[in-house]
Amino acid sequence: MSLKLGVIGTGAIGRDHIRRCSQTLLNSQVVAVTDINLEQAAQAVADLQLSAEVYADGHALIQSAQVEAVLVTSWGPSHEEFVLAAIAAGKPVFCEKPLAVTAQGCRNIVEAEVAHGKRLVQVGFMRPYDQGYQDLKAVIDSGQIGEPLMLHCAHRNPTVGENYTTGMAITDTLIHELDVLRWLLADDYVSVQVVFPRKASKALSHLRDPQIVLLETARGTRIDVEVFVNCQYGYDIQCEVVGETGIAKLPEPSQVQLRSGAKLSTAILMDWKDRFIAAYDVELQAFIDGVRAGQVGGPSAWDGFAAAVAADACIEAQGSGQIVAVSLPQRPAFYG
Ligand code: NAP
Repeated sequence: MSLKLGVIGTGAIGRDHIRRCSQTLLNSQVVAVTDINLEQAAQAVADLQLSAEVYADGHALIQSAQVEAVLVTSWGPSHEEFVLAAIAAGKPVFCEKPLAVTAQGCRNIVEAEVAHGKRLVQVGFMRPYDQGYQDLKAVIDSGQIGEPLMLHCAHRNPTVGENYTTGMAITDTLIHELDVLRWLLADDYVSVQVVFPRKASKALSHLRDPQIVLLETARGTRIDVEVFVNCQYGYDIQCEVVGETGIAKLPEPSQVQLRSGAKLSTAILMDWKDRFIAAYDVELQAFIDGVRAGQVGGPSAWDGFAAAVAADACIEAQGSGQIVAVSLPQRPAFYG
């Protein structure tokens, strides 16, 4: 039997996930959709030729007996309310990042889930499902390069829109590194500092770009992440792990190598949607399979909370220029 899904939010990623769940993945059926713009929700249903019902709002969708599990793909500030409502209804919920826009909001979700007594929440951090990161983690965990001492990472976008702010470099961009590097190292952050190199001339006047985020983990691993969102040349994700006896590097996406015009070259992706397209499929299939097996896994509400706490410290560090402590409370036993 297919898992009957209700989707809240039919913007860019919502429509993409609806298509994925309806056309690509196994054992799922989108039976309900809603959006603050109901015409847009109806259009998404029509475009994909679904037989899904359009609900008046997210709460009506969550309460519907037709809906067995919920995807929250609306804009960030609405996530907390819908995830809490899904937990109250006892329904599994996949929530796009951010889990909530404040660390306290994430904590409210953690507390509700722990009180419920069973995991219901998977957060839409897709990088742990990327084959390259999985291969990199396997090398680290094998001990082949010894203990990780340093990580050199980069998150580069060709350009960003006018509404993008210096803070969004943390909450929308770096947030993926904050999650995946914790997972990669199985370690937590204890401090962070943000430094700003000379500003790129292509960056809009209100935006400080690039920036370098320096993280320290509980075991003493040092991480530098360059966030550069006006690099022009491509969407480029780099991660190099320097261990005691060797170095492991995130593989480049597979591309044809071209010999032409006296050059040896490979293309660089320009759009973030293409870089992790397979990982989005794998993360959602894992959610569907997990719910059907009665065992929701993957990035947890606690991981969403940990990323939010680190992001808050980064925002503070952007403003102060100082080293800021990252204070994560003791992880509840519930989260393993
Ligand atoms: P988007 O295109 O703006 O779509 C968000 C949709 O939610 C819009 O249609 C919006 O309607 C609707 N909405 C807002 N409040 C709502 C509410 N209370 N109830 C129902 N619908 C509501 O944004 P997006 O790019 O799809 O992003 C959505 C979420 O996914 C964000 O949290 C984003 O960070 C996340 N995301 C994650 C990834 C990833 O790599 N994992 C990638 C992209 C996006 P209006 O437009 O009318 O306000």
